[in-house]
Amino acid sequence: MSVKVCKFGGTSMADGNVIRNVKSIIDGDAERKFVVVSAPGKRYSDDIKVTDLLYKCHAELLSCGSCAESFAAVRARFSSIVKELGLNFDISAVLDETQARIECEQNEDFTASRGEYLSARIVAEVLGAKFVDAETVVFFKENGSLDGERSYRAIAAELSGVERAVLPGFYGKGVDGRVKTFSRGGSDISGAVVARAVNASVYENWTDVSGFLACDPRIVQSPKRIKRLSYKELRELSYMGANVLHSDSIFPVRRANIPIQIKNTFRPQDEGTAILPSSRYVPSGNLVTGIAGKKNFTVIFIEKSHMNSEVGFIRDVLSVLAAEGVSVEHIPSGIDTMSLVIDSHSLTDAKLNKIVEGIKETVAPDLIRIIDNIALIATVGHGMSSSVGTSARIFKAIADADINVKMIDQGSSEMNVITGVKNEDYEKCIRAIYAEFFNREN
Ligand code: ADP
Ligand code: ASP
Ligand code: MG
Repeated sequence: MSVKVCKFGGTSMADGNVIRNVKSIIDGDAERKFVVVSAPGKRYSDDIKVTDLLYKCHAELLSCGSCAESFAAVRARFSSIVKELGLNFDISAVLDETQARIECEQNEDFTASRGEYLSARIVAEVLGAKFVDAETVVFFKENGSLDGERSYRAIAAELSGVERAVLPGFYGKGVDGRVKTFSRGGSDISGAVVARAVNASVYENWTDVSGFLACDPRIVQSPKRIKRLSYKELRELSYMGANVLHSDSIFPVRRANIPIQIKNTFRPQDEGTAILPSSRYVPSGNLVTGIAGKKNFTVIFIEKSHMNSEVGFIRDVLSVLAAEGVSVEHIPSGIDTMSLVIDSHSLTDAKLNKIVEGIKETVAPDLIRIIDNIALIATVGHGMSSSVGTSARIFKAIADADINVKMIDQGSSEMNVITGVKNEDYEKCIRAIYAEFFNREN
């Protein structure tokens, strides 16, 4: 029998009622044997996610030696979930134990991981399934990245012959033997790791939207659903900010050609979005598949006559950034100009000054200029590589909306055009591109 792995996100864990939906989804298909869960997310717009409450616990622990005050909110969330579900499960004993271990370990990752741990304990009770702690089967390497091979082996061994199991997402064990988390949103990666380990027929990612939408639904009202995406398109869109799926979740499943299906826990009847390997991908026929973006980039613009005939110019510039431990997201360049696009979160004023001075010293540019508060918007689609004039349509749409383009980068894959605009123009720019490609005939 083929096996499906189902990952349920934060909103699918938010309260007892939604967890009942989860149970009926799992009970509705015998192939849905292995479940990965997130920590409870928001119940309403200004609610606080459990993971954020846990980061507060860690901060309190550092400043006062206890996390009692912040942990009370975590305790209340889980106690009310258990109550709503009418479970005969002594959650308060588990919460006491958890608080004690948080205070003893004093490890931020451990503390943050407890939302997933507690969710999984509860869902295992609800489903009558085995609880498998991610700490015992998901491993990281010395350099902090996932140790895929070791994790796949451990998960496959642990789940072999098991009828149903629930695993917490987001964390595993580091080489120092302590709990370590992925980056935020990382339960999506855990789900992919389990899918790969058991060679699932599909990795179902259950969330609160009916699939991957052509752009962020918080910016454009009811954007069109994308029926099919290739792994490559997913990677471009999720990396550029479409956070419905963590951009690293693709790696574990890609090698095994396991498709990902995005589904809505609140509307399980909706088809959702299929994310497929290129071998199974049938183009949608649309020019543009989706639009995604992120705010807060800093651009270092460098001009020097004949820079592109100067051997090692780019390498020398990049070595200045590497020395400061700063990575570059994009490097659009011309004959005499190049721009370094950097995530502003990775820069302090002091670091930026050092980088500018370093570049001046190393390559003596004619001009160097900093442009900050830049938002990047990616327009992505396989259809773009075979069609002339797509970029022109993007820029015309942006110009017609009276938005000033600060930077352009056409990805080498030819399926991605990245535009840099001022942060304040971000939403307006996405709406303009969306209207151009989705509100009229493609
Ligand atoms: P989960 O808790 O299930 O992991 P996330 O909050 O991480 O869910 O991701 C789902 C959210 O992603 C949606 O509620 C939506 O607001 C947001 N989102 C951003 N871009 C997109 C997009 N292109 N398509 C669908 N959802 C998107
Ligand atoms: N709970 C974690 C977070 O909020 C991981 C996840 O939801 O995927 O980032
Ligand atoms: Mg998520």
